[in-house]
Amino acid sequence: MFSEQQIAFLNMLKVAGISFHASMPTMGGYRDTFIPPHELSEFIEDQFEWVAKKNGVAREDYIRWLDTGGAPQCGQILKNGNRCKNLISGHVQRSLNDWLQEDAGLCAVHGGEPSSNKPR
Ligand SMILES: [Zn+2]
Repeated sequence: MFSEQQIAFLNMLKVAGISFHASMPTMGGYRDTFIPPHELSEFIEDQFEWVAKKNGVAREDYIRWLDTGGAPQCGQILKNGNRCKNLISGHVQRSLNDWLQEDAGLCAVHGGEPSSNKPR
């Protein structure tokens, strides 16, 4: 994406101690994220893909984690073929990795634990 001239310019900035940061969405707000100069091109192309890759998850999982507020949803498939998507009791604003592990578990209706049994 960058020309050799642009890469040389980025290296000049790096040598001068200039670094690149972006504000990326996370649970409850935004996080200042450092972007190495050699990854700027990839970041500009698709910043969600870049962050997902950094976290070792799929782009769609990262976006769904943000969209659900870090609340894992029930994975039971209903009679109409749709996923239940009830919240799994007691779990909100989970970290990306916790959310990934808990998403598609079962809500209280489908045999998961009721919220009163969850440790706080
Ligand atoms: Zn359910």
